[in-house]
Amino acid sequence: MSFDPDALRAEFPALSQTGTVYLDNAATTHKPQAVLAAMTRFYQQDNANVHRGAHRLSARATRAFEGARHQLAEFLNAPASEEVIFTGGTTDGMNLLASSLGQMVLTPGDSVLIDGWAHHASIVPWQQAALRAGAQLVPIPLSERGDLDEAAFMALLQDKPKVVVLTQICNALGSRTPLARWLPLARQAGALTVVDGAQAVGHEPVDLQRLGCDFYAFSGHKMYGPTGIGVLWGRADLLDAMPPYRFGGEMIHKVSFEQTSFNTLPFKFEAGTPAIAQAIGLGAAAHWLQQQDRAAMARHEAQLLARARTGLSQLDGVTLYSAFDDNVGALAFNLDGEHHQDVGIWLDQAGIAVRCGHHCCQPLMQQLGIRGSCRMSVAAYNSEEEIEAFLAALNDYQEFLY
Ligand code: PLP
Repeated sequence: MSFDPDALRAEFPALSQTGTVYLDNAATTHKPQAVLAAMTRFYQQDNANVHRGAHRLSARATRAFEGARHQLAEFLNAPASEEVIFTGGTTDGMNLLASSLGQMVLTPGDSVLIDGWAHHASIVPWQQAALRAGAQLVPIPLSERGDLDEAAFMALLQDKPKVVVLTQICNALGSRTPLARWLPLARQAGALTVVDGAQAVGHEPVDLQRLGCDFYAFSGHKMYGPTGIGVLWGRADLLDAMPPYRFGGEMIHKVSFEQTSFNTLPFKFEAGTPAIAQAIGLGAAAHWLQQQDRAAMARHEAQLLARARTGLSQLDGVTLYSAFDDNVGALAFNLDGEHHQDVGIWLDQAGIAVRCGHHCCQPLMQQLGIRGSCRMSVAAYNSEEEIEAFLAALNDYQEFLY
């Protein structure tokens, strides 16, 4: 196994066709040929609905779809593949969990702890679940440095929260939650633990048995897979006990007009026709990632970020919000006195794609005292030349202004 950034880049057809230096990977990544081919193959050769047809095409589609589930269980080192629930993405997984688990465990007066740099996809479903139950969503504050505050977290655990929701890697800053320390602390306090892994799965291997959380949610499109598909992994005993979230075909065992009994895992949580081609595409993305030298990919990405960080800090009037050395994937910054959107438009004119705005983290922006920022985010297919082009375009902007 070796890592050749140029060879890896050549596997992504979009990179040679969009004419863009693509530094918006935290929003979504491009897809390698292996993923595109798996989805095309399904539609061209195996297209049928899954689990219910008497015919061979349906059997083939079911094999490919369930094969993808097995692939993902292996990718995550999950104890069992029936714990892998296909969802529409992280947002969908969090809604499922907050609704179903919330209904099962939250009672009036309870609290749900959530980190201060959580994405709206975590905040809002849990906020609504807490509201419905008469419970409270409690943010874990940030320190003055903009880091998570461990002392504050430990103090909040004294209140025995029912659920602790943690973001593995913050999409707005690229900063990392110390899960290896925090998950055991949450468990010792008796809380159920939920991890938003949306920004982690594309950058580093995830070993659920080592991580030791109760639930883990992510999206396929941020790990070189298709949109419209993601995974919610959960401990089988908890998923078994939780009420279903959506109702309809596939998730049932027996239906009469008077009552319904529900299917076993994972189908209990997969009502209706699933996103079959997308699940197969996600399985292909997991397989593709498993075949890469992921340590080398991560080193390459870290080098790109380090160069971007150095270059940004050498420009006049740049405020960097990603102040930590162990950042993963993304750097956030503003140019003093400039609206982030203007900077984004300038970069776009130069053929460089970044994201500008609040990054679905409005509470974090409020804590940082800003309305938004520019965010550049890398994937393994980005090159040093692209980082130089990004820095040169920002330099031009400064020269244009002053
Ligand atoms: N959580 C984090 C940390 C994210 O970065 C994102 C997407 O940007 C989400 C959740 C939501 O993911 P999706 O829009 O794919 O549901």
